[in-house]
Amino acid sequence: MLTLNENFLQLRQNYLFAEIARRVSAFQQEHPDVRLIRLGIGDVTRPLPPAVIAALHQAVDEQAAAETFRGYGPEQGYLFLREAIVKGDYASRGLDISPDEVFVNDGAKSDTGNFTDILGRDNSVLVTDPVYPVYVDSNTMAGRTISYAPCLASNGFVPALPDADGPAPELIYLCYPNNPTGTTLTAPQLQQWVDYALSHGSLLLFDSAYEAYISTPGVPHSIYELEGARRCAVEFRSFSKTAGFTGLRCGYTVVPRDIVVTTSAGTTVPLADLWRRRQSTKFNGTPYIVQRAAESIYSPEGRAQVRATIAYYMENARIMREALTSLGLEVCGGRDAPYLWVPAPQGMDSWTFFGRLLQEAHVVTTPGAGFGPSGEGYIRLTAFGDRSETLEAMKRMAKWTEGLRG
Ligand SMILES: *Cc1c(COP(=O)(O)O)cnc(C)c1O
Repeated sequence: MLTLNENFLQLRQNYLFAEIARRVSAFQQEHPDVRLIRLGIGDVTRPLPPAVIAALHQAVDEQAAAETFRGYGPEQGYLFLREAIVKGDYASRGLDISPDEVFVNDGAKSDTGNFTDILGRDNSVLVTDPVYPVYVDSNTMAGRTISYAPCLASNGFVPALPDADGPAPELIYLCYPNNPTGTTLTAPQLQQWVDYALSHGSLLLFDSAYEAYISTPGVPHSIYELEGARRCAVEFRSFSKTAGFTGLRCGYTVVPRDIVVTTSAGTTVPLADLWRRRQSTKFNGTPYIVQRAAESIYSPEGRAQVRATIAYYMENARIMREALTSLGLEVCGGRDAPYLWVPAPQGMDSWTFFGRLLQEAHVVTTPGAGFGPSGEGYIRLTAFGDRSETLEAMKRMAKWTEGLRG
């Protein structure tokens, strides 16, 4: 008899974004004349940098001639891109990562979700809460037990290490700069997690999709800046938020050779070998033209253009942070990440705050409760909007807040 992987039935309904869409479209149907401003989306809005467009055109033309045509490429990614990544993101910071430790992919969502394929079902998982839902859902599909490290105003949004007496989680997901709270961890705080992983034999799965947004000096850009991380941490990066690749699709995963796992038979296996095996079986590589596009980000023009786009978003973030702070809201994030995490006034819950901003200020946000239990009482705003819309949204929220006090 046909059966299902019934772990899928344990997933929470993909309720957050579907429910937001439902409420927004119901409101819009009743009020067709209202122009809503959307500060809820986690997608970029600025076009791709000119250097990327030029690289795409050139790569497309290469595909038109027999001499330069490329078919199947290496599953792990072309060496030209892996070398550009190593030089631009690691060697430039004095970090020792080699091109054969870099795995090019079609975005960080795929690899953060798929990486659990090569790990035992019995591993328990720790995630910070609120959390990017992919870590929870992919491990639920695999049937793993998941625990939560709350990140709240009361602990400065810094997750506590697991109890010293309790069982140690084998898999630990960290995302910094954080989606959804927009917070970062300092080097000493991150070092504690690396030390914990090393002393308990845990694997750190470090998502740094927002690395390019870091501007505060001293905030680690890579987990490999921390002592010992090469022995216990996998790093996921993405060109999506860095360079507008949310539609083009490209990212990469770093699996250091130093991570070695002992099998039940007592032999040892480098984690990277298993990941290479998994990828070469289930993945046939990122398109050549997309890898050329990603390579172009590391050129001097590409870098300058990417920086300008990020500066545009982060100016939105600054405008939002100042506007909301002046309204008396204890906003966090928005300094090293394109997200602001905003507590609801007057003890409202997330969905009430969301609903009132929708109906009374005509601004669409994301209710924090959708990211996990510790997100209750918050909304997430994104800085990915258009400048004039962002300014207008802040005016609307100021007026709404005045009305609330009025
Ligand atoms: C957007 C995002 C990613 C990147 O996803 P892609 O699949 O590369 O587009 C990864 N992690 C987090 C936390 C994100 O917010």
